[in-house]
Amino acid sequence: MQACHTSDLHTHSRASDGTLTPAELVQRAHQQGVQTLALTDHDTLAGLAEARQQAQSLGVHLLTGVEMSCVWQGIGIHIVALLPNQQDLGKLNAHLIPQEAARQQRAQQIAERLARTLAPKPEREALTAQIWQQAQEYAQGTSLGRPHFAQVLCDLGYVTNQRQAFKKYLGSGKVGDVKTNWPSLAEATQGLRAAGTITVLAHPMRYRLTQRKRSHLLQAFQAAGGQGLEIVSGRQEASQTQQLVKEARALGLKMSWGSDFHKPTPWQDVGRFSPLPASITAEESILHWLH
Ligand SMILES: [Zn+2]
Ligand SMILES: [Zn+2]
Repeated sequence: MQACHTSDLHTHSRASDGTLTPAELVQRAHQQGVQTLALTDHDTLAGLAEARQQAQSLGVHLLTGVEMSCVWQGIGIHIVALLPNQQDLGKLNAHLIPQEAARQQRAQQIAERLARTLAPKPEREALTAQIWQQAQEYAQGTSLGRPHFAQVLCDLGYVTNQRQAFKKYLGSGKVGDVKTNWPSLAEATQGLRAAGTITVLAHPMRYRLTQRKRSHLLQAFQAAGGQGLEIVSGRQEASQTQQLVKEARALGLKMSWGSDFHKPTPWQDVGRFSPLPASITAEESILHWLH
């Protein structure tokens, strides 16, 4: 079951891998009854200015946020960082610059590796350039990711749809699955704290860890300065929510939540995610610490 919530603290726009423009996202949130919205694009603040303008005109309370990728024990982990009001963006932006560079480097590598697989040697350089250029056009100045390359592979006729592109070329273990040199969990968390944000471990159930391993992750996160835990991410079982609330309380982590919205589907929308437990107190809620 999904409920309609008045706050959604984890959403994506076209500035990373969402499908709506930042303005469209805010408008949709408003239509769905969301009053407090955090835009948390992957590793970039590029969508914020546009989102803020729309939020002001509609009276939506927009929180500055970002979702940062990092690594812990070889596992890719996401941290949602939310900036309390009145904090300036400069430090947070500076912390994200190497992250953006790493993403660009990875994108360049994807283009090269795809061309190496798809074309004979004399044509590779030209194909790399073509893939790179077209992918950038799709990304429109935002973070270049695998979905953009999937679209290019469709256009060039190597596959008939995005799903096939991932299955043959871009999915896990395929030629275009290039690992990025993300920072460690500790580096990412410490940097985000120094930039004035409140840091939240995103979608803890999605890493498919045992309870014991998750507990180690949460302890490592907290030791690095991590402050919060997403107790609800999109659709999840009530038993998972209860478990995460218990784990957050055991460590004194603040509780956060969100849809992790990327695009409107019959199952996914801004402000729609599994119910929050009524037992959460004001001090346990991350909202309390964001004003
Ligand atoms: Zn994520
Ligand atoms: Zn996300």
